[in-house]
Amino acid sequence: MKITFPYMGTSHIAFKYLIESLGHQAIVPPKPSKRTLSLGTQHSPEFACLPFKLLMGNYLEAIEQGAELIITSGGIGPCRAGYYGVLHQKLLEDMGYPTRMLVFESPFRYPLDFFKKVKAVLAPNKIGWLEFLGHYKRAWRKLQILDEVEAATYDLRPFEVHKGETTKIFNHCLTLIDDAAARDEMEQVREESLVLLRGIALDRSRKPLKIGIIGEIYVVLEPFANFDLQVTLGEMGVITQRTIYLAGWAKENSSWDGEKEVKEAAKPYLKEMIGGHGINSVGDTVHYARRGFHGVVQLAPFTCIPEIVAKGILNKVSQDMAIPVMTVFLDEQTGKAGVQTRLEAFVDLLAQKRERMEEMAI
Ligand code: SF4
Repeated sequence: MKITFPYMGTSHIAFKYLIESLGHQAIVPPKPSKRTLSLGTQHSPEFACLPFKLLMGNYLEAIEQGAELIITSGGIGPCRAGYYGVLHQKLLEDMGYPTRMLVFESPFRYPLDFFKKVKAVLAPNKIGWLEFLGHYKRAWRKLQILDEVEAATYDLRPFEVHKGETTKIFNHCLTLIDDAAARDEMEQVREESLVLLRGIALDRSRKPLKIGIIGEIYVVLEPFANFDLQVTLGEMGVITQRTIYLAGWAKENSSWDGEKEVKEAAKPYLKEMIGGHGINSVGDTVHYARRGFHGVVQLAPFTCIPEIVAKGILNKVSQDMAIPVMTVFLDEQTGKAGVQTRLEAFVDLLAQKRERMEEMAI
């Protein structure tokens, strides 16, 4: 079977590995681009949020490459994400595509549904559950390694002597991770990748600012959607951190009491689930402030209710904890130059604030 899935950050490398291990042909959608966005916007309802449109465009591109089945995840809570799968399927049907869609929900909430869907993927190639577990564990490890190596680049880039070197090495590491098939090979390339990154020429005399990145998962993870925000900030000399990585998100959302810490931190400001990553945006900002970060950037798809609600609450968190928060709303009209200018102004403001604080401390 020719199977596709959403393209989000570097996760396609692990998904491709899993699908191929199960004996199917993985149709990796092209990296999201202007064409993806234009296709998605053309075939989505106007009110749909940016992730919906980009996914729609990506599905259409994958269908052009012959995809017969789309595998994606569902969503819980009071937000549109839970309807994405049904709506995408309906729109594709209306366009006359026979492509099927399997929407996976949390196995802890809907165990029967989850097992039925996994079985539908395993059955055509007569893969047993034990064999599946082995493939799944290796794909999961790949995802963790991808996240770990990516996170390391955000700590190093602000110190790099030769601009662009971290990105160049990271791209090479992605190829190595992609090529690793067996478990021990994966551990080897993990080690090799970290050694390569540690070999980058750094100027440790710099004093980078630290900014936390929060917001809706798709726009946080996919560089095309956020104009490569973390790389841009890194090259401006800023260390960025985010708590949202795909492996971490999947783990937290597959358990009954996932994301306990972040919910606890958000509690004084927000007690209810508001869908998407709204509660994380609030709780993570509290954590970043406690850890001495200089600022926070919130990435929010235009019309994304969870992030709009969080933005309102963040004004109070920002005041209480003296941490500046900048919100970037993203849709098909947003331009890279505008975002870059706002980021530069925000970084200037944070640098001035740090200088004032240091003067006051003397
Ligand atoms: S979290 Fe926001 S962007 Fe994501 S589906 Fe919900 S409303 Fe849309």
